[in-house]
Amino acid sequence: MSVHNLIESRLDPEHAVVDEICPAGEPWVKLVKKGATFRIVDLEGNQAVDTLFFNPAHTPERYSATDTISRQRSLYLTTGTNLYSNFGNVMLTIVADTCGRHDTLGGACASESNRVRYALDKYAMHSCRDSFLHSLAHDPLCEQLGLTKRDLPSNINFFMNVPVTDAGGLEFVDGVSAPGKYVEMRAEMDVVVMISNCPQLNNPCNAFNPTPIRLLVWEPAEKGIAHV
Ligand SMILES: [Zn+2]
Repeated sequence: MSVHNLIESRLDPEHAVVDEICPAGEPWVKLVKKGATFRIVDLEGNQAVDTLFFNPAHTPERYSATDTISRQRSLYLTTGTNLYSNFGNVMLTIVADTCGRHDTLGGACASESNRVRYALDKYAMHSCRDSFLHSLAHDPLCEQLGLTKRDLPSNINFFMNVPVTDAGGLEFVDGVSAPGKYVEMRAEMDVVVMISNCPQLNNPCNAFNPTPIRLLVWEPAEKGIAHV
């Protein structure tokens, strides 16, 4: 259940066709084509990267935490994990991972959960749910695809450490990530990637200090860049 399958990538960032920084607290949306490889780098360590995937050709199909957990028989994600859709299709496969712990259960922080978890006056804090809703309502690609605030499923929290206790509870604890750790996945279908780079200041998963991430995409292998 908690096996870390640490594998490094041989892909060279100099060959990436997308190489962007997403500041802490900001959303990021991009179409990643089938066969392309997508990497998220935790630049400063312990950053929670809340992520969703949608099928642009059929937007009711999207990443499904429940399908991924039940088909993998694992709560956590690492190299070799298939990320399943709610239609039972593999959307992406994790092909490299130097962190080894990515959460499927914790969900996205929200004004409401911030208030319950931390303090009443945290209600106005910026949250991942707000970032996702903003992307769904205003991002040009989401608009083009007809996505709206109704299209918000459960997300992955890359790099976030959420152990399950013996009693079945969830703990939000200090991350196991570190500066430069990354997770890399191959798109098995065209996917829209939607990220909220978590702004959460009150959660040890962000080391109480939200930080930027780097996002890279490599073209499909058949275009000349082999993935090993
Ligand atoms: Zn968050």
